[in-house]
Amino acid sequence: MSSMTEPLVRRLRPFTSTIFAEMSALAVSTGAINLGQGFPDTDGPASMLAAAQQAIADGANQYPPGPGIPELRQAIAEARLADYGQRFNPDTEVLVTVGATEAIAAAVLALIEPGDEVIVLEPFYDSYPAAVAMAHGVLVPVRLRPCGDPAIGRFALDPQALADAVTDRTRLILLNSPHNPTGTVLTHAELAAVAAVAIDRDLIVVTDEVYEYLTFADGDAAGPGTGDGAADGARPVPHLPIGTLPGMAERTLTVSSAGKSFNVTGWKIGWVCGPAPLVAAVRAVKQFLTFVGGAPFQPAVAGALRTEREWVGGLRKSLQDKRDRLCDGLTAAGFEVVRPQGTYFVVADIRPMLRRAGSAADTDGLTFCRTLPDRCGVVAVPQQVFYADPAAGAHFVRFAFCKRDEVIDEAVRRLAGSSV
Ligand code: PMP
Ligand code: GLN
Repeated sequence: MSSMTEPLVRRLRPFTSTIFAEMSALAVSTGAINLGQGFPDTDGPASMLAAAQQAIADGANQYPPGPGIPELRQAIAEARLADYGQRFNPDTEVLVTVGATEAIAAAVLALIEPGDEVIVLEPFYDSYPAAVAMAHGVLVPVRLRPCGDPAIGRFALDPQALADAVTDRTRLILLNSPHNPTGTVLTHAELAAVAAVAIDRDLIVVTDEVYEYLTFADGDAAGPGTGDGAADGARPVPHLPIGTLPGMAERTLTVSSAGKSFNVTGWKIGWVCGPAPLVAAVRAVKQFLTFVGGAPFQPAVAGALRTEREWVGGLRKSLQDKRDRLCDGLTAAGFEVVRPQGTYFVVADIRPMLRRAGSAADTDGLTFCRTLPDRCGVVAVPQQVFYADPAAGAHFVRFAFCKRDEVIDEAVRRLAGSSV
């Protein structure tokens, strides 16, 4: 094969187009409602948007400092302390990145040698295998499995499966909670199991917490996974950063992003916090990926972290209502859903719907999603692309509910009337 006809290096060939790009393009070309790619269709806090405009007017248009502007690093450190009691030195233990995506890629590139193994929760966010491939690493998935009644159940981590996945080549555990796409918020017991393995085998944990503020009350107050027996049924499932567990601060890099917390996915302001040597390693790589980014957005995000916490609380509440709206609608339309505890995604099992419609079609979420816009004008994301073995996730598709109520209602109406 000529290097001109197939120029992309072999290890990156599986990653030529992301499922989000494919499905969003399909939404545009068909005019379908896009419940695929996870981006909100309303704006973030007005004061934050105004602050970014003002920053441009004030001339914040050149390279910011490599680690991020001090004001933002300080605001991130303050937020981690206020929210979780985590203490980070803003000068040495906080690094601003171009979204969480860069933080994760830079961390993987910085921390693994060729051939090292990286454990990820499966289904996994699409950038994880790509980052591991870029670093010549080996992806080792540990599957989250649905447990309990779908209406109140969750995808759960099997601690034994995690322990069994560790080998002498394991270097990193790349964790994600609240978890995209399943909506699982890892419990204290699950996190403690991960921590025990990490400490026992001397592993680094990179924890992707971009949905840290987007957790909801369980569908059933007494349902599994709350860990706190939320008797009033209204308290959101608590998000617990693994870096707060005993023995974990020194081996954990915590990643988050303004995109999800403040409805600005296009701003790409993310960050990573952790012990100085680990953050310095990530910084070494980051400076040659992008050097810096988002000069006028950095002061705006700093301000929002300080003054718009109530807005984030409102976002959480509204997303919880949207979760219920979409879950109820999908259920009525014939899907079986696992009600998510966090994020803005819901995973739906398409098999009951296919069965009910007497469809002889093979259960294939990818085909289902590629034909859904033509059948009923809705876009979803097939979950199989988040599995090493696509067959394992072929019956699941993911819908995003970070959309206006009328958009969700119209999507549900179309799905209910669709032919399979
Ligand atoms: N991690 C997860 C789990 C995500 O869902 C996303 C998508 N936003 C990202 C990372 C990427 O975040 P960012 O847009 O800040 O790069
Ligand atoms: N995080 C978003 C999702 O899961 C997509 C981001 C992207 O398109 N890279 O839908």
